[in-house]
Amino acid sequence: MKKATTSFLLLITIFLNSCSSLKLPGTKEPTDAEINDQAAKAYVEVKSKSKISTHKEWNDMVQRVARRIAVASGENFQWETVLIESSEVNAWCMPGGKIAVYTGIMPVLKTEAALAAVLGHEVAHATLRHGKQGYVRAMNENFIGMIVGGAAMIGGQFLCKTSTCKTMAALGGAAAGFAITFFSRKFSRGDESAADQTGQIYMARAGYDPSEAPRLWDRMNASHQGSAPPEFMSTHPSDEHRKVALNSWMGEAKAAYASAPHKYGLGSPIN
Ligand SMILES: [Zn+2]
Repeated sequence: MKKATTSFLLLITIFLNSCSSLKLPGTKEPTDAEINDQAAKAYVEVKSKSKISTHKEWNDMVQRVARRIAVASGENFQWETVLIESSEVNAWCMPGGKIAVYTGIMPVLKTEAALAAVLGHEVAHATLRHGKQGYVRAMNENFIGMIVGGAAMIGGQFLCKTSTCKTMAALGGAAAGFAITFFSRKFSRGDESAADQTGQIYMARAGYDPSEAPRLWDRMNASHQGSAPPEFMSTHPSDEHRKVALNSWMGEAKAAYASAPHKYGLGSPIN
């Protein structure tokens, strides 16, 4: 994440922390449906503020991989996937199955199976309900989200450098509060490892060779030097630890791959 964006998010975090005693009386923990509803609204906003890619080959690939990962997860979400035209090396899945892939990540991935590994990881965060506490707080205090949304729109004019931050700053009201919580989320190492393990199983069930997962993280690590790391690189244990862990789960992943109804190996190359 760029320095200015980090400073901006730090201000927002300080603001949110300072406001934590302002919780509305009588608010209760939102349900999955309520969180997913907020995510769906923020997703509509993100799409309206983004340039959607017209790259047919990549669009087709992103749609089919996302569809297979969704089926492999067994989760009954209202799935939707979009390919956003952006130089950012990024991909994410909001609660409730709203997925975005940025065109900047495609050349780094090199294979369709690597895309399956990234989407497996991101979808696993959603199916495992990671970060739910953050959403609970954002929704219980959505009046703060509205204030922060306004601040983001003003602050974003000066501080945002990445397209994600600009998109976030352009959102209004509670949607901005939710989006800020989502885009500034930091998962624990335990959550990251769980998303790696579950994501590897998802890609294998979806018919992609899971041995591509540890190779992908090598390529990702080489690609983001000197620039902002995407979510799946930001708070993870060391690369070596990650590869050791992925290889330690490979037996289970290979078994899932062996049982997959269709096998695509590494899929199509990405050029
Ligand atoms: Zn992650």
